[in-house]
Amino acid sequence: MQCACGCGAETKLAKATNSQLGHIAGRPLKYLTGHYLRKLKTVVERLNRTTTANEMTACLEWNGASVPKGYGVLWYQGRQTYVHRALWVELRGEIPDGMFICHHCDNPRCVNINHLFVGSPKDNMLDMIQKGRANFRGART
Ligand SMILES: [Zn+2]
Ligand SMILES: [Zn+2]
Repeated sequence: MQCACGCGAETKLAKATNSQLGHIAGRPLKYLTGHYLRKLKTVVERLNRTTTANEMTACLEWNGASVPKGYGVLWYQGRQTYVHRALWVELRGEIPDGMFICHHCDNPRCVNINHLFVGSPKDNMLDMIQKGRANFRGART
């Protein structure tokens, strides 16, 4: 498998499974050692043109186009996509069908990869209930 950073080199097989890094033992790695950071840097640099770091929360807030709910949008792979989803695909890989990319920080404009997690529609609903947003769907926050 070719390194996902775009350098064109072949990656090695993973020696061990590491769910945090997305490694599966015996399967090719997505990146050569250190290239994940290279990729992260390019994507974040691209985003940095239109993001502001919030020093209080460590959120990386999108200043580009957004939808009424506050989520940033960009043109990605030929279609209008949420910035946080595009970032996830770039850095972590494809999002399983029907899954959401949720915000730990509850800040829809935030595109800090460390504040994002994959959740099922059920997780997303539970998360909203825990945060008291269940009855405020579509409300601006
Ligand atoms: Zn590479
Ligand atoms: Zn955040």
